[in-house]
Amino acid sequence: MMPAAESEPRDASTAIYVHDIPAERPWSYVLRKGQTLRIIDSEGQQAVDALLYCLADPTERYSAQDTLRTQGSPYVDVGTRLISNKDRVMARITADTCGRHDTSAGCCSCESNAVRFGEATKYQHACRENFILELSKHGLGKRDIVANLNFFMSVPIEPNGNFTVVDGVSVPGAYVDVSMEMDVIFVISNCPQVNNPCNAFDPTPIRVMIWDEARL
Ligand SMILES: [Zn+2]
Repeated sequence: MMPAAESEPRDASTAIYVHDIPAERPWSYVLRKGQTLRIIDSEGQQAVDALLYCLADPTERYSAQDTLRTQGSPYVDVGTRLISNKDRVMARITADTCGRHDTSAGCCSCESNAVRFGEATKYQHACRENFILELSKHGLGKRDIVANLNFFMSVPIEPNGNFTVVDGVSVPGAYVDVSMEMDVIFVISNCPQVNNPCNAFDPTPIRVMIWDEARL
């Protein structure tokens, strides 16, 4: 059984940054080695899609496949090391009150919505569009989007190997702490999906907080 946290609980009053990301919107931030990002599912059952890029060389980026291979299990929780495509540790999950996060099911897009939910959904806003918008602020684009993390998204893998997106298990105020092991561009899409249960069919705001351990 994993511990709920690797370190003492962080004091909210010592955070150097607090920001509420509105429902359906993207966000990004340059996080330095040693800093910790807390992502709070403010109202519960809200999927948070995320990508990480090495600040010094963004061709080095988060790799879902290397992360899962390295830890030998399909879920992201406390202790998971987020691995890059150059097999280096980008960040670690250091606290988690939700208990399970996905990195297998990818992000939603207008194209996949049309295939999965019908042509009428093609023009709904999607995570892929959020990522494109936010990546453009860092000189990156569509071809830089890779398989992503889905914080607070529940994708149980059945004994027969099948998996599907089911109702989120995160309660209001659930959080996950991600501690940086290198300088990264951290990109979030607060998922706008309304066609499957990942957001309880009602996208809601989330909060991000940052601690700089060196300044505590
Ligand atoms: Zn999405």
